[in-house]
Formats: sequence, structure tokens, C-alpha cells
Amino acid sequence: MMVATHVAFGAFCAVGAALLLHVPPLAAGLLLLGGVAGSLLPDLDHPKSWLGRRLPWISRPIAYLFGHRGITHSLFAVAGIFYVCTACLHEWGINLGQAMPLVLGLCVGYASHLVGDWLTPAGIPLLWPIRIRFRAPLMLFSLPFMEPLAVTGLWFGAGFLMSKTF
Ligand SMILES: [Zn+2]
Repeated sequence: MMVATHVAFGAFCAVGAALLLHVPPLAAGLLLLGGVAGSLLPDLDHPKSWLGRRLPWISRPIAYLFGHRGITHSLFAVAGIFYVCTACLHEWGINLGQAMPLVLGLCVGYASHLVGDWLTPAGIPLLWPIRIRFRAPLMLFSLPFMEPLAVTGLWFGAGFLMSKTF
């Protein structure tokens, strides 16, 4: 799955969460920001990914220790992101309630990436360290025009949902 598809799906899911939770517009914006960022994080385990090329000093050790689509593509990682974010906010004395939409967006975007990779033939080790790979490949995505079409549809969908939060 292309990085643009992950980002668009992360944005769509984050805005969907904002709508479901009836958050005010500023919080919806933070959720969206977190969703976009979170959708990029799992592929930090691949030095040639969009984020891996920008943060090679983090990406290479993770890739060396765990390989691509290892620990970063698991429920363990989603829980870890939530825990690390809330622990950092607490440590830095930042109001947890005000920053929670950003943390929630990160987790939603992260989880959306896992769902996206779940739909590919390689699947994901959702229950890492248990090595079972979860997959439900959508063969439609192997068609060359499907991902650009999905990206466009997801951004239009996210825009529509965002308009409903105001
Ligand atoms: Zn991935």
C-alpha cells in the first residue's frame, strides 16, 4: 500500500472518530493531525519508507532488530504509542485532557495503517510476538488505478466528514 493511501485512510479514520466523539472543531483538527502522523509511524521499521528515509537513525535499528512488518505492525505497538504519549505528556506537565485528541488521533491513524496493511497479501503480525499473520487481501488494490482512486475518495470522504464536525 502506498504512503498516500495510508495517509488518506488515517485522515479519514481520524475525522470519522472526531465525528463519532462529537469533539469541537479545534479538537477535530488535532485528531486529524494525529491521524495523519500516526498513519506514517508503523513503516518506521522500513528504512526506505517515507518516514524511514527521514529518520534513518531510528528506522535502521528497528529494521535490524525486528524486520519490516514486525513489532511496529501489532496491537502491542498501538498500546505502546498510547502509553508513551500519555507518559510523555504527564512528564512534561502538559494537560492530558487538552492533548488527548492528538494522542487519540495518533492511535487511530496508527491503527488505520495496520488495517490497510491487513488488506495486503503480506498481512500483519497483529498479535506479535505470536508469529501468526493476519491478512484479508483486497485484490482490487493490485489494479494500477485503484490506489489513486482510493486516495481521492478517502480525502473527499474525510472532507465531507470534517464539514459535519462544524
Ligand atoms: Zn506498513
